[in-house]
Amino acid sequence: MSPGSQIGQCWQQRGLSIIILSGMIPTMKAPPFNLIRTAVAWLAWPGLLAICLAIAGYGFAVCHPALFFNLAYALLALCLYALEQTMPHEQLWNENDGQTFANIAHTLTSKGVVQSLIVFSAVIDLTTYVTPASEPGYGIWPRAWPMWIQVLLAIVVAEFGFYWAHRIAHEWKPLWRFHAVHHSVSRLWIVNTGRFHFVDSFKSIILGMLILLALGAPMEALTWLSAVTAFIGMLTHCNIDMRFGTLSRWFNTPELHRWHHSRDLREGNKNYGENIMLWDHVFGTYFNTRDYRPPAEIGISEMMPPGFLQQLAWPFRENRRTAD
Ligand SMILES: [Zn+2]
Ligand SMILES: [Zn+2]
Repeated sequence: MSPGSQIGQCWQQRGLSIIILSGMIPTMKAPPFNLIRTAVAWLAWPGLLAICLAIAGYGFAVCHPALFFNLAYALLALCLYALEQTMPHEQLWNENDGQTFANIAHTLTSKGVVQSLIVFSAVIDLTTYVTPASEPGYGIWPRAWPMWIQVLLAIVVAEFGFYWAHRIAHEWKPLWRFHAVHHSVSRLWIVNTGRFHFVDSFKSIILGMLILLALGAPMEALTWLSAVTAFIGMLTHCNIDMRFGTLSRWFNTPELHRWHHSRDLREGNKNYGENIMLWDHVFGTYFNTRDYRPPAEIGISEMMPPGFLQQLAWPFRENRRTAD
């Protein structure tokens, strides 16, 4: 037998064994692969949140809360992005909608405006009034309680402000036009987590945080609240096939938030909670069903311009047009 025919035979045999093996792979791999996927689907939301909270907690313990918060946030973004690519809830939502630049620009602008207002408030000496509110001996806040209970209390109290800020934004047209920027996307994924018109962001933060400041909550509780809201916010918008069970009864999970982005207002004008669903239960706006899937086609009935700057100007123009 010539070396050429030997090689040919060898490749034929190898080809045959590849065909046999590749036929076996699905049957061999399917059960453990499915098992891992199911485990990840159930553990991703509580597991990633717990890891992020642990990292943030370590940051507080070593007096570098901002550094460790940012590390946890970056890690969360990486994990969620990898999961969105491997086990998406809607395959269609992984396709480019041309809004990535606008999403990031809105995120940076709303964060930037809030930061600038904090600096501006310091310049005009607003801190003379705000700082005493977070100093010991002010207000009725139970500062002697363990910090984790104070953080839970801060979440419940601030959520009352977040809930009404969000609900008014849906039910009162002049404010809806600002919030519509967030709802104008045609897909949900981690990059549109922070897509808020800066006026919309500012209004929510003011309503949520002012209640806590007025009650005299300490800065540590406020910082914890900001961290929890940031982690849960990114989880809420991710496009991952996850399972939640009873968690969706009390926490704002992606399962609930997908209903909130529905075009059908019987589903969309529901689930206003930012982190927890307590106030939705109290005020009768909680919605969830597992009888059918949340809509893959999401968005708003109005025409939102595609460009970032036009989107910034759009609510002002529409409000003026209505006033005319
Ligand atoms: Zn909304
Ligand atoms: Zn949203």
